[in-house]
Amino acid sequence: MPSDIADQKTPLRYKRILYKVSGEVLMGDTPFGIDMNTVHRVAEDIKEIVDQGVELCLVIGGGNIFRGLAGAAKGMERSSADYMGMLATVMNALAVQDALEQIGVSTRVQSAIPMATVCEPYIRRRALRHLEKGRVVIFAAGTGSPYFTTDTTAALRAAEMDCEALLKGTSVDGVYTADPKKDSSAKRFDTLSHQEVLTRDLRVMDASAIAMMRDNAIPIIVFSIKERGNLLRVLAGEGVHTLIA
Ligand code: UDP
Repeated sequence: MPSDIADQKTPLRYKRILYKVSGEVLMGDTPFGIDMNTVHRVAEDIKEIVDQGVELCLVIGGGNIFRGLAGAAKGMERSSADYMGMLATVMNALAVQDALEQIGVSTRVQSAIPMATVCEPYIRRRALRHLEKGRVVIFAAGTGSPYFTTDTTAALRAAEMDCEALLKGTSVDGVYTADPKKDSSAKRFDTLSHQEVLTRDLRVMDASAIAMMRDNAIPIIVFSIKERGNLLRVLAGEGVHTLIA
C-alpha cells in the first residue's frame, strides 16, 4: 500500500538526505538475521521518496548479524570482532540493494573496505556523481575502521555528501525521556537541540555522531520505520517524529 501522501506531491523538506537504518530493524519480528519482508518494506519506502526526486544516501547497520562489542565480550580481539561487524553491514547492504533494484530503483553499493568483486570501493566524488544521476548510494562496511559504529558512519557520510538532514529509522517513533519499552511514563520529545541530547545523555545515537551533526549544523530526524510510508510522511513534515536541530 503506497502511503497516503505519495500521490499528492507534497513539497518535501530536503533535497538530499542520509537515511540510517539500524540492522536491528531488518530482523523484523525474527530473533536474528535478515527478514526479507521487512527489507522489501524498507525498499518501498525508499522508492517513494526517490520517485519524488530526493537524492538518497543509505547507511545500514549490522546489529542483526554481528556486533563487535558482542564478539569482544565473548573473548574476541575487539578489532577483529569489529571487522566482522563491518562485513555484516555489507550483507545487509546487498539485501537492500537487491530489494531496491527489484522495484526499479537504481543503486550503487560502495564499501569502505574494498571488495572489488562485490561492489564499488568508497570514492566520495563518485558517490556524489551517482546521487546527481538519481542513484541511491548505499555506504557499506561502516567507516572501514574498528571502534566506530554505523551511527558515526552515517554522520560522517552525511557531512561528506553534503546532506541536508540525517534521518534515523528505528523501532520507536522518536526520542523519549527514557526507554519507552521499559518505562511507561517516558515522554517523547517533538524537538531537541543536539546539545540537549548530549547533555541529557539521551541514547539516540553515539555521542560522536551527535557531536558531528551539531558541529556541521545537520538536523537529525528520529522516527519509526515500522509503519509503511513513514519516511515520506516525515520528509513532508508530517507523522510522529523527533527533530534534533
Ligand atoms: N563497525 C565498525 N566500524 C564502523 C562501523 C561499524 O567497527 O565504522 C562494526 C561494529 O562492530 C558494530 C558493527 O560493525 O558493532 C555493526 O554496526 P552497528 O552496531 O552500528 O549496527 P546497528 O546497531 O546500526 O545495527
